[in-house]
Order: sequence, then C-alpha cells, then structure tokens
Amino acid sequence: MTETLTRAGVDGAIQADTVIVGAGPCGLFQVFELGLLGIRAHIVDSLPHPGGQCSELYPEKPIYDIPALPVCGAQELVDRLLEQIKPFNAQFHLGQEMVELTVLEDHTFLLRTSTDTRFHARTVIIAGGLGSFQPRRLGVERSDQFEGRHIHYKVKSAAEFTNKRLVIFGGGDSALDWTLEFAGKARSVTLVHRRSEFRAAPASVAKMRDLETTGSIRYIEAIAHAVLGEGDDFRGVQVKTTGGELEDLETDHVLAFFGLHPKLGPIAEWGLHIDKRAIAVDTEKFQTNIPGIFAVGDINSYPGKKKLILSGFHEAALAAFAVAAHLNPAKKIPLQYTTTSPIMQKRLGVAPPPAPPMGDG
Ligand code: FAD
Repeated sequence: MTETLTRAGVDGAIQADTVIVGAGPCGLFQVFELGLLGIRAHIVDSLPHPGGQCSELYPEKPIYDIPALPVCGAQELVDRLLEQIKPFNAQFHLGQEMVELTVLEDHTFLLRTSTDTRFHARTVIIAGGLGSFQPRRLGVERSDQFEGRHIHYKVKSAAEFTNKRLVIFGGGDSALDWTLEFAGKARSVTLVHRRSEFRAAPASVAKMRDLETTGSIRYIEAIAHAVLGEGDDFRGVQVKTTGGELEDLETDHVLAFFGLHPKLGPIAEWGLHIDKRAIAVDTEKFQTNIPGIFAVGDINSYPGKKKLILSGFHEAALAAFAVAAHLNPAKKIPLQYTTTSPIMQKRLGVAPPPAPPMGDG
C-alpha cells in the first residue's frame, strides 16, 4: 500500500538504512554481508532469541552441508554467525513480530512491530523463513475468544496466576517447568498431556510425578475437547481422556504449551507478490516487486530455488550489493576481498597495524 509521507507516521520512528525482518541464519548472515559494505542493520524477530529454525526446531541436530564445516550443530552454527557479525554492531529487536509495512510516497518504508517499535527505513530485507513462530493453539471452538484473559500461550507475569485454579496443557519443558513452579503457589494445578511420554527433561517429569503422588498436583492423560461456559462466561475446559471419557475441569486459567510453529502471518499483507507462501524475487538482486524491499532465505522463491542455508547465504551476499546500490545509486560498489581490502578489514576490526615507516638507510 502507498501512503503520503506524513510527519505523524515518521516522527519518533527509528531512522534506518536497512531493517532485516527475521534473525534466522540467513538474516544473521545478511548483517555480515551488509556490514562488509559499511551498512549497519536493525534486525527484528518475533522469537526472543536469534537463530530461526536452527535454534527453534533442531538446535541439537548436526548440519553437514555448510561449506568448510564438515559437521556443525544447528545452534552452534547460529552461535558462530553471531560471533562473525559482532563487529557490525547490528541492533537486535527480539520478541517482536513485524506487523506492518507501509510504502511511503518517497519510496521509503514505515514499519511497526507488535510491541510498537517503529522504523523509518530506506530499504527492507525480509529473511522471514517459513514465517514468524507462533504458539500452537488449543484448537477447540471458542478458545480464541478467551485468549489472553483465561487461555494463555505464555506466562507474561507469574503473579497473575498465584492462588488461581490452573489447567496446564503440554508435555515439554515449558509445561513441566510451569507445573513445578505453580505447584503450591496456585490454588490448584492440573497438568494435561496427551500421552505418557514427555519431551521435558526427565528430572522435571520425576518431580512432577512426586507432586502427583503427594496430591500437590493432578495429572491427566487427555486432550482439550471444549471450552466450558456460555457466551462470554468462562468456566474451564472439557477434556477427552485417552480412554475416551469426557471430563469437565473447572478452572480460572488454562495455560497451553504445545510448542511453536512458523506462520507467514503479516508478511502476506504487505503488497508483495507471493506464490505458495513465498515471496517472488529476481536472482540478480533478490529484490521483490517493490523496489527497495528484498527477500532472502527460505521465504523467497525463484526458478530453481532450494531451501538451504547455503542458498540463503549466497542470496544475502548479492542482496547486500543491491541494498548498497539502492541506498547510494550514484556510487559504484566495487567487489573487494576480505583477504586484501583494508576498508573491509577495518570494518571487521581485523585491520593489520600500519606498516612501520621504511628506513632510508
Ligand atoms: P528461518 O530459519 O526460518 O528464520 C526466519 C526467522 O524470521 C524466524 O526466526 C521467524 O521468527 C522470523 N520471522 C518471520 N516473520 C517475521 C515477522 N513478521 N516479524 C518478525 N520475525 C519474523 N538446511 C540446510 O541447509 N542443511 C540442513 O542440514 C538442514 N537441516 C534441517 C533440519 C530440520 C529439522 C529443519 C526443520 C530444517 C533444516 N534445514 C537445513 C533448513 C534450514 O534450517 C533453513 O533453510 C534455514 O533455517 C532458513 O533460514 P532463514 O533465515 O531463511 O529462515
């Protein structure tokens, strides 16, 4: 969408040459490639930590197809990228989803995150992968209606739940950690999990079992079936046990921790050409249909695209040159090698000390 540039929209916004949406491996490497060309980036991610799929979906798994690293753990790769981009001092804005992008009349961009951080950017690079990670929902009728009031997918403030009746869903670390945390502090805690195996740390499961034995908490093997209550009245949740029986659990709050899954989300609303949940780009600049907006990594699409980290790294290198040209159209951007370029070495903070003056004798 194109709007008239108004001071009201731009005032108070962070002025940025470039904003990267997504701090997965490709967004992180984008910081590096921009940094080599002297461009400092702001980088936004809805997750509270960088790393995208690598950190969120498979941190412990080994990756074997990163050039020159015969094997590298997924989280290790993220840690190495963070180390590599340190010299470029990118500003991270984590735990906030980029929800709005408006193209202004002068072809700059106004962006807003879910926590109301606003950017006035000259270029945008979308490295949103499969989308922003969202909590998996309870998935029963009317549960949306009570979200944030009685049904929660994260704990913003533990105090809100003290002395309340709680039903906690899930079998991973979050579900177990909060069960242990609220036992004795909440009026009652019922943990509901769909099967007898847990993904959570065995020590947490053992503690939960102890609490169950002493009657401090209740544990049920079941899934959510319905929300209890009429209209806007919330009474609790009905579950269906593995034996097929329905049981009403009267409660003040439901906390559901089913993990996160990526969703394209607001990016789909920004006027970009999207084909099968991916943004169409050219393969010279990785630019989208909107000049000044680029897309790299899993989120983009072009003939022959392969969703590999390696591909995203290549795309980030070319997109950085395109961003530099967009920011400074009159300037030629020469290709330089990090091995030999004094300016790049200075930016990297590895500039060799100046050679001592040559003696004349
Ligand atoms: P992602 O890693 O998906 O990161 C995108 C980030 O953008 C996310 O953190 C997301 O929260 C954020 N985001 C999206 N939208 C928004 C928004 N609106 N606002 C704020 N933030 C947003 N690839 C390989 O090359 N080799 C392998 O061996 C390999 N193994 C894999 C194993 C598994 C189990 C999986 C699931 C994937 C594997 N991959 C592998 C694929 C690889 O992980 C992806 O290609 C890579 O993560 C893509 O990186 P990315 O930065 O483009 O996106």
